[in-house]
Amino acid sequence: MRKIKIAIDGPAGAGKSTAARLLAKRIDYVYIDTGAMYRALTLLALKHNIGWDDENNLVALFEQHKIDQYGSTTLIDGIDVSDEIRTNKVSRAVSEVCRHRDVRQKMVKLQRQMAQQGGVVMDGRDIGTVVLPDAELKIFLTASLEVRAKRRMDELRQMGKPIPFSEVLANIKQRDKMDSTRKIAPLRKADDAVVIDNSFLPIYEEIDILETMAREKIADI
Ligand code: C5P
Repeated sequence: MRKIKIAIDGPAGAGKSTAARLLAKRIDYVYIDTGAMYRALTLLALKHNIGWDDENNLVALFEQHKIDQYGSTTLIDGIDVSDEIRTNKVSRAVSEVCRHRDVRQKMVKLQRQMAQQGGVVMDGRDIGTVVLPDAELKIFLTASLEVRAKRRMDELRQMGKPIPFSEVLANIKQRDKMDSTRKIAPLRKADDAVVIDNSFLPIYEEIDILETMAREKIADI
């Protein structure tokens, strides 16, 4: 059976990673978290003191290091940075790093290679519009701003990094603004994407819906 490509886009805190990971598990696909890849580059920039406007050196960093991403695991040069890329420091800076054209070009090229064989659920901001415009199934996942901030706050608390609600809300608002107004590959619903607002949708129901859609697409091709 041919394996399809599934793109899941949406704003910060919409639950894309959870949905993509659980969906991939149910249909035995590989989950790729593209946000984690931009976070990994941001972490590298922080460690090497590269400024957010220094596009050339950000690209050079990308070329000098190896970023691997699969499921919930992100590696830089073979070292697991899955937790380190979730700190507030990285969250505050990532939208600055990923707004550069050349940085995105490099990242998109790598993401396309990773998805080449199909059998992937890839989540991000520009997957359905730029990275995999040929994806057979495109989902745009969203939720209200307050629900998204609350989820992110709970996630950080679980990681032992409690942050006040007002700070998380401000970060999400700021990222929404930067992600949707940037010139290159802004966060936008693909014309052929299905919108799911999960503000009041229990996760197991959401995954059931996604699995049904995915299996229908797989059976169609
Ligand atoms: O998905 P996550 O919130 O971890 O992504 C971190 C940041 O990476 C986003 O706020 C966005 O600025 C950027 N991003 C992007 N394109 C993607 C995935 C993430 O610009 N495909």
